[in-house]
Amino acid sequence: MHIAIIGAGISGLMSALELAEQGCSVDIFDQQLAGQAASWAGGGILSPMYPWRYAPEVNQLAQYGKPLYQTWNEKLLPITGIDFQIHDTGMLIFDKEDFEIGLNYASRYQEPMQQCELLNRPKLENINPYISQKFQQAIYFPQLSNVRNPRLLQSLICYLKQHPAVRFFDQCPVKKLIIQNKKVLGIETEDGRKFSADHVVITSGAWSQKWQQQIQCHIPVHPVQGQMLLFKTPENWLPTMCMNRVMYLIPRQDGHIVCGSSMADTGFSTAVDEHTQQDILSACLEMVPELAQFPIVKRWAGLRPSSPQGIPYIGAMPELENLWANFGHFRNGLCMGSGSARLLRQLILGQETLVDPNAYSPSRLKQQNLISC
Ligand SMILES: Cc1cc2nc3c(=O)[nH]c(=O)nc-3n(C[C@H](O)[C@H](O)[C@H](O)COP(=O)(O)OP(=O)(O)OC[C@H]3O[C@@H](n4cnc5c(N)ncnc54)[C@H](O)[C@@H]3O)c2cc1C
Repeated sequence: MHIAIIGAGISGLMSALELAEQGCSVDIFDQQLAGQAASWAGGGILSPMYPWRYAPEVNQLAQYGKPLYQTWNEKLLPITGIDFQIHDTGMLIFDKEDFEIGLNYASRYQEPMQQCELLNRPKLENINPYISQKFQQAIYFPQLSNVRNPRLLQSLICYLKQHPAVRFFDQCPVKKLIIQNKKVLGIETEDGRKFSADHVVITSGAWSQKWQQQIQCHIPVHPVQGQMLLFKTPENWLPTMCMNRVMYLIPRQDGHIVCGSSMADTGFSTAVDEHTQQDILSACLEMVPELAQFPIVKRWAGLRPSSPQGIPYIGAMPELENLWANFGHFRNGLCMGSGSARLLRQLILGQETLVDPNAYSPSRLKQQNLISC
């Protein structure tokens, strides 16, 4: 079975991996270099932030993130030499209004990753000595981890590029789908080349609305910009991830600390601005004042593929045969990435699915009388 995948972020790369490992041949296209968009820009927290604020469908897929990435890391590492470092740091949350709700959520759902306890100041200092005196309590999630997402992407790209059944087309924007009698037969690239495929998968993240005219279906996915900044501290300096008022610190093993993030509608702009960067910096220093002594080594922005309630579209697209979706992961595309791709592969190949697929079905997308192009 031959599959064409449009977009080489985490959604496209993981889908390619799942399908290639099941014996499919895969062509994967990206309009820029593979793995440079939102999936590179993200923080890599392997859980929705404040899971009780998200739909159960989001939390359900996110639960598969860490265990599946662990298995893939073990498999890919000997071939690629790239360890994408699933870093078990746990997380502290300082938002007082979330303490009770978080504790209740943990005891109600019993999800292993969401177990938490309320810490007083001495216990808090024991777990992370750098937290500001301003915070006398926190809820602590010892099971939460982060993945070094740029390395995860590098590993996937490296593995897939040496895979005999996979062809990569970097800097090769897909212009349109080739459709005949309500059946998708392949894709055409901007430079006029045509590629046939048994199935086509849309994994084009924040750019997914591009397809709505051609397939005459409203796709409510648009870019929401998130800015980040990066500190460099000594190795393993900050022991835990920290979160307050939706701003977070994510320590990597080598001492880099990813800090973010903002939310803004800026179209497809990935420019950073001083005002937003200051907001992120203040929020981070409020949690860990001693960070001020370390250099900021990078700033960037990425475009999240927002969707209603952040529930991604995974499965067969309505009305057209052989067209599939895996897009619209909004703030949680890294933690949902491995589970989403597994679900997609199971649906395409007619296998038993790891979760009930109905909640993610693109049949939620409404048909519209858009002008055909
Ligand atoms: C600042 C920030 C922090 C985040 N933190 C986290 C986090 O901690 N945890 C978490 O789980 N998630 C996080 N996210 C969200 C996560 O990064 C996204 O949900 C996820 O990366 C989306 O992956 P994707 O593959 O769908 O999209 P992308 O990574 O954007 O990939 C889409 C790809 O499609 C390509 N493409 C588009 N149109 C075409 C076309 N016509 N032809 C060819 N190629 C095309 C693009 O070039 C792009 O490479 C964060 C995001 C941001 C921006």
